[in-house]
Amino acid sequence: MDDRMDVLDYGFVELIDSLGSDLTVVNSARVSFGKRVETLSKRDEGLIRFLAENKHWSPFRHVQIQFHCKVPEFVARQWYKHVVGIAYTEQASVDHAWNEISLRYIDASEIDFYTPDGFRRQASDNKQASTDESVEDPKGELRDQYVAHSRQALALYHHLTECGVAREQARAVLPLNIYTEFYWTASLQAITNFIHLRQHATAQFEIRQFADAVDALTAKVVPISYRHLLNRSESVA
Ligand SMILES: Cc1cc2nc3c(=O)[nH]c(=O)nc-3n(C[C@H](O)[C@H](O)[C@H](O)COP(=O)(O)OP(=O)(O)OC[C@H]3O[C@@H](n4cnc5c(N)ncnc54)[C@H](O)[C@@H]3O)c2cc1C
Repeated sequence: MDDRMDVLDYGFVELIDSLGSDLTVVNSARVSFGKRVETLSKRDEGLIRFLAENKHWSPFRHVQIQFHCKVPEFVARQWYKHVVGIAYTEQASVDHAWNEISLRYIDASEIDFYTPDGFRRQASDNKQASTDESVEDPKGELRDQYVAHSRQALALYHHLTECGVAREQARAVLPLNIYTEFYWTASLQAITNFIHLRQHATAQFEIRQFADAVDALTAKVVPISYRHLLNRSESVA
């Protein structure tokens, strides 16, 4: 599998870097006994399972993974709510990092707009959810209006900047479907929490697609720890 996974129309999640492996989890736990191993054994996998089942989180926090993500702004707003183990304060004790593209620096002509394949119906039993049922749009009129609105917003943005308005103010006319990019570095514990919440059926469809990509890339880095943290059975190749 590639280290970069395309998501939606212009988005992606790319694995940039990682600190640690399944062995890191094992050795972080075994230091209690003054022990360190160089290769992973079946017994070590048993230890990982024990740690995961009993919520001994600290050994998993030694594993950190850095992703480059390109997501619609409304997805970034949901992602950004995950703050523990993904810190963005300037205090020295935090173990997380989030750095994002800035429309104060770059011109918005370089950004993309997310256009869904179709429109989902509003759920009647859950105020924040949609259903699997599509809104009928046989001629694509709703889709065309959606795309036209994005273009008009960009045209207004350009008009404002051409008239001398600062980028930092002009950007405010852009809709929530603009793509943004950020680097996200998180501990394995924080990633697991993110996956639990954002791969869940109650999470919005779009962020679930990104969670699936984070999931697949994380499994590449720490296949055993991640499998036990999510209580998944071993896949048969
Ligand atoms: C389906 C869905 C709908 C949502 N709707 C909304 C919404 O309408 N509005 C909105 O504002 N947000 C909403 N959220 C965001 C949600 O409230 C959380 O902020 C977000 O999911 C981050 O999760 P978290 O709090 O576990 O993450 P983090 O804040 O990163 O916390 C991670 C974990 O650390 C632990 N932790 C954190 N803080 C403390 C503490 N002070 N003391 C002890 N332990 C702590 C907890 O175990 C927590 O799960 C929604 C989330 C989902 C999944």
